[in-house]
Amino acid sequence: MGEWKCSNCGYALSAPQPPEQCPNCKEKCDFLDVACYIPDCGGSGSGNPDTRLGGK
Ligand SMILES: [Zn+2]
Repeated sequence: MGEWKCSNCGYALSAPQPPEQCPNCKEKCDFLDVACYIPDCGGSGSGNPDTRLGGK
């Protein structure tokens, strides 16, 4: 299960794959994979300088 966020309106949803059309703004827009915004995921993603786990 992934976490997706509409790059147009910021609407977030959980789904295995991002929808073609955003259910909120009704636009066909890019969905960003925001699963790694969740700290528990281990943070192989971007922008977290706190790497206490000691590597990827
Ligand atoms: Zn949207």
